[in-house]
Amino acid sequence: MGSQITKIHPANRGFPLRFFAAAFAVSLFTSPLTGWQLWLAYDHTEELSKKHKALTENIGRIMLLDEVLTMSARMAAVTGDFSYEKRYDQFDPELTKAIDEVRNLLPQQDIKLFVTETDEANLALVKMERQAFALAHEGKRQEAMALLNGGEYARQKKIYADGMQKTINVANDLIEKGYRHLHWLFLGLVAASIVSVLVLLTTWVFASMSARSWARERMESEDALRNSRDELETGVKERTAELSHANEELRHESSVRKLAEKELRESEEKFRSIYESSNDAVMLLTETGFFDCNARTLEMFRLKSKDEFISLHPSRLSPPLQPDGRDSLSAANEKIATAFELGSNRFDWVHRRKNGEDFPAEVMLSAFNFQGKRVLQAIVRDITERKKNEQMLHELASRDGLTGLYNHRTFYAMLEEEIARTQRYKRTVSMLLLDIDHFKRVNDTYGHVAGDRILEGVARVLQQSVRQEDRVCRYGGEEISVILPETDVPTAVQTAERVRAAVEQAVFKDDSGQEIRITASIGVAALPEQAATLRELVEAADTALYAAKEGGRNRVCRHERPAAN
Ligand code: GH3
Ligand code: MG
Ligand code: MG
Repeated sequence: MGSQITKIHPANRGFPLRFFAAAFAVSLFTSPLTGWQLWLAYDHTEELSKKHKALTENIGRIMLLDEVLTMSARMAAVTGDFSYEKRYDQFDPELTKAIDEVRNLLPQQDIKLFVTETDEANLALVKMERQAFALAHEGKRQEAMALLNGGEYARQKKIYADGMQKTINVANDLIEKGYRHLHWLFLGLVAASIVSVLVLLTTWVFASMSARSWARERMESEDALRNSRDELETGVKERTAELSHANEELRHESSVRKLAEKELRESEEKFRSIYESSNDAVMLLTETGFFDCNARTLEMFRLKSKDEFISLHPSRLSPPLQPDGRDSLSAANEKIATAFELGSNRFDWVHRRKNGEDFPAEVMLSAFNFQGKRVLQAIVRDITERKKNEQMLHELASRDGLTGLYNHRTFYAMLEEEIARTQRYKRTVSMLLLDIDHFKRVNDTYGHVAGDRILEGVARVLQQSVRQEDRVCRYGGEEISVILPETDVPTAVQTAERVRAAVEQAVFKDDSGQEIRITASIGVAALPEQAATLRELVEAADTALYAAKEGGRNRVCRHERPAAN
């Protein structure tokens, strides 16, 4: 697949939104709490202001009533008017009530340090004022005045005033603390609200950003999904096309295979018919021996049945020795080994039929694997006819057309061979060179055809006059050479004499039946007595022939000069 679908982790994707939801839920929960706190603060403020008012009023009344009581006692002492005492009695409980109210409004632990001494001072003052009233009643106004202006009264008055001042201070502290608490409470609530709003705003921003990126990712993943689906569809289409193509190829292959099988069958049949109708013997063998052959094999080797062939040892199909003198069995094994090694091997061989007749053959061995075994196919072609033809051609090529003798070229080849053999075995070879005397005249007298016939006759005479191993050749024109292997000069001279006499005695006839007699001169030379090389030998014979001619013809001359070395 080409594209990858972007994977977005659901937890990552939903986190800002969840955070926003949580923040929103928290703010939903804290808002009433904040409102409740505000409500409480409002209540507290009202209560505090009421307390403040009550404290201020009562403290003012206490100061006022205290002064009224002191002034009432002093006025009664100065004037003797006892209506001041009644006013005193009227306001004294009010003062006590105001003091109690203030003390009830204040925390007891803050005032307990000085409340006792203030109360004691108050009691002492009340006692001294009551005493002043009593003295005034007795008329002792001067003493009453002295008591009220005396040091003890002033001291108690100061203790009492200090106590009242401390009470006022505590009240002030209380009010101040209350307001300060309220101040901080408000500040805290405002800060909490601001933080809450900020958190809400921030989470909203993050949430909206996240929602947007989420939507974008979703779109991208949908695109990727669509692309991958498209790719998948394309892939499926391509695969389907490939499959149908492969199917097509398979169908084609199947038809090709059927065709090949048919061809194979046909070629097998063809092979079988060639195998059976072949003019060559075809044999199949493994290392253990023959296992099959065609009909021609039986015919070629004069065998009765295939079973007889299979039971034969391969060595029975060859003579013990091959023409080159090699042992047939070891030579055949060598040829077979070469065929197994190289795959094939072609060679000439001499086979033997069951009736003992040998025949030349061309053998083609091919090695191949068949049913897990190494098999050798031997095709044996009987080349008797071919050999005969070859021999005939060779003969034709080496013979002279008119006389049937070996021609000039063959003479040289045979002489060379004979000289080599002679030199190898340190023997002697002689040669005769015969030339018909005055043959030009014979031609002129009896005609060329008669001349030819005489030539043929001379050739016959020569062949009858020499040994079988001697080679009679037409040297050229009316000159005939004879190679005499293993013959020394005297023997060669004798042979030459015999030939000369035979020619002289022979009677030839022309077309009209008229008898013709001829003579011939012969030169004799031998190697190594008179010549060391072929050329020297031929020259020596030629010189001897020339000498015979010079000597009067119809005679034999031997080369007189010995060889140079
Ligand atoms: P000489 O005794 O000196 O040998 O005399 P000659 O006449 O035989 O002389 P030479 O050997 O030089 O002559 C060769 C003659 O042989 C010439 C030619 O007429 C004849 N001749 C050569 N070849 C043939 C041939 O194939 N057929 C015929 N009919 N005559 C041939
Ligand atoms: Mg001649
Ligand atoms: Mg001649």
